[in-house]
Order: sequence, then structure tokens, then C-alpha cells
Amino acid sequence: MQQDQIPAPEWELETLAIRAGHRRTHEQEHGEPIFPTSSFVYGSAAEAAAKFSGEEPGNIYSRFTNPTVRTFEERLAAMEGGERCVATSSGMAAIMATALALLSSGDEIVASRSLFGSTVSLFDKYLGKLGITTRYVELSDLEAWEAAITPATRLLFAETPSNPLSEVVDIAALAEIAHRHEALLAIDNCFLTPALQRPLALGADLVIHSATKYLDGQGRAIGGAVVGRDEELEEVFGVVRTCGPCLSPFNAWIFTKGLETLNLRMRAHCENARHLAEWLEGHPAVARAHYSGLASHPQHELASRQQQGFGAVIGVEVKGGREAAWSVIDATRMVSITGNLGDVKTTITHPATTTHGRLSDDQKAAAGISEGLIRLAVGLEALEDIRGDLARGLDALV
Ligand SMILES: *Cc1c(COP(=O)(O)O)cnc(C)c1O
Repeated sequence: MQQDQIPAPEWELETLAIRAGHRRTHEQEHGEPIFPTSSFVYGSAAEAAAKFSGEEPGNIYSRFTNPTVRTFEERLAAMEGGERCVATSSGMAAIMATALALLSSGDEIVASRSLFGSTVSLFDKYLGKLGITTRYVELSDLEAWEAAITPATRLLFAETPSNPLSEVVDIAALAEIAHRHEALLAIDNCFLTPALQRPLALGADLVIHSATKYLDGQGRAIGGAVVGRDEELEEVFGVVRTCGPCLSPFNAWIFTKGLETLNLRMRAHCENARHLAEWLEGHPAVARAHYSGLASHPQHELASRQQQGFGAVIGVEVKGGREAAWSVIDATRMVSITGNLGDVKTTITHPATTTHGRLSDDQKAAAGISEGLIRLAVGLEALEDIRGDLARGLDALV
């Protein structure tokens, strides 16, 4: 009798996204059940003792493990090619749990400068309080990474492609540098997902996700995950189990269903984004379009080699600074004005005053966040409708 959907070694990504991690209950249901339960019960005192001591595997309490959460974890682990995944209550919780699990006071992180704003705050303000220091380097500059490493460096942390300028780092080369200095490499794979980039196969040790973005894909829930080897993930699990930033079974269920369409969605996102980026690059009101899928992108060749697609986030620098950028945003009637991304709905934001608003002017300048910069996260509406909505404001500028 067919029972559990344990990934077969020959399964392709498209199949893993739909089948991996599904365990049928005695009801033999076709879909993935939700287990909204805080705790689990036992048939006897002896069974309870065996479960609590870890002698027997099984669920105890949903802060530790939950079957719905496990299905999401096993599916994502299979898709990223990792031994294990630990789900968390948000993408930030995934980064926090990774740092608490693997770093101690006195340790150092080297990170790319163009990180997600809250990641920078976490590293500087909260890890800083614990005596963990972070040095920031230019994402694509491998020599700068190596130069920033000291004997205290334990973790290299990068987001590639970067938000919102689509800079790319050579993951395999960065992994080699990390390992030569006995540090781990973590890649925030939020923008491409395993459908378009698998950092572990390129040598990274850990993959971080904000499941809130493309894994869900429809802007419904907040969640995150860390994927990697058993050795490090056991430590991450210990932090989540003890400190409590665990994923709710309801959100895990949403993400599991999201994964089923991830491959199709990401391909469609990429297709829309490529057409829009090409059109934007040629528009007279646009100073520059940043998208690693454009032939003009300085790292287009590297991105083509290491990624299976270019994602759907485009940085658009309009001529005329903040006033011009805001006028393009305000002229839209369909596209959603929001800092979120990774949704079937196209979103638009002005990074300098929203997502990156908490950075100092110097930090903004270093990260390339100019006043004329708009970030587009291209959704799955008809290309003509997205283009028309943006053209209204852009055409008015010329
Ligand atoms: C959104 C995001 C995060 C944080 O995830 P949350 O789910 O919002 O906590 C981390 N990294 C990147 C690249 C993101 O876009």
C-alpha cells in the first residue's frame, strides 16, 4: 500500500514540490492535513516517557515539532537539497535562530552590505549587544570578503541577487573562501527560491528563507525556514524549540500548498520581469534598470551560470530623484504600493523612504539606494496591464 511520500532520489524538483514530505494519516487523505494542536497524547505512561526522553521519535508539543510543519520542512529540505530544514515564525526568526545557534560572544560575521534592512538591524543592534560584530562588504567583491575575515569570523552571510539592485555574488567562490577560513556560508535565497537557485549545491552551508515571499506566493502568511546539514540544523532546532519562534501549523499548510505551484509561478514571474526590465531600460524617463537578466547587467554572465532564472525584482532608477519616483508610484492604479514582494500581485515601493528608510544616509549611499530608485516586484498579471500602469507615470516625466 502506498503510504508516505518520501522523496525518491530520482525525483525532479517539480515532483518534490508537490509530493515530498506528505505522510498520509489513517484516513488516507489525498491532500495535506492540518494539525492545529498544541500538544500530543500517548497510550501509556511508558510511551510518554520514551517520547520525552527521545528514546522513541514522535511529537510532544507543537513548539518542538508538529506534523503539518514537518511536511513543509521536509518538502523544502528536499527542494533545496539539504539534509534538514527547520521552519520558523518569520524570515527574521530564521536568521535570528541561525545566529543564536551558531555564534557566541566574540564571534564575527562578514555580510554583504545590501542586506534586507531588518537583517542589518538584527546584526548591528541585537547581535551587537551580545558581543557579536558584523563587518559589511560589497556583495560581488570577493577580495573584500576575504580581507574582512579575521580569526574570529564564523559566518559569512549574503543575499544574492541583492535587493533591489540585483547584484550577484559567485556562491561557489564565496563558499570556498568561507571554508578556507573555517567559517560557514549562509545564503538568503528569498529572491530566487530553490526553483531558480540552489545554494547548497554550489557549496553554501545554510540557506535562509522568508517563506512570506515566493514560497507562499500570494501574500497570505508570515514564516521562514533554515535549510542545511543535520549538524548545524540540530543547533538551530534547539534554539527554535527552546526560545519559541516556531511556525504555526496553519501557516505551514499555506506554505506547503504554495510550494506545489512554486516552479510554475517562478517561471511566469521571470518571464514578466524580463519583458518589463527590457522595456524599462529603454524608457526615456529611466536612468537605469537593475535586473540580472538584462544583458547590460555587469554580472549577467555569472547570474546566467549560477541561477536557473533571474527572479522578478527590478530596481528602476528614474531621472528626477524622489519627486519623480513618487510621481510614478502615485500614478499607478493597479499595482500595489507596498513594501512586500513575492506575490502574484505586482508591488511597487520607494526603498529610500520605506524598506531601507531606517538606514543612515551613508548606509543608503553604500547600498546604492538613491532617491530616484523604485523597486518593482513583478507579479503575474498580464504584462500589458503592468506596463500600462507604470507607463502612465513614466510617460508624464518626459
Ligand atoms: C522579507 C525578507 C526577510 C525577512 O522575512 P520576514 O518573513 O519578513 O521576517 C529576510 N530576507 C529577505 C531577503 C527578505 O526579503
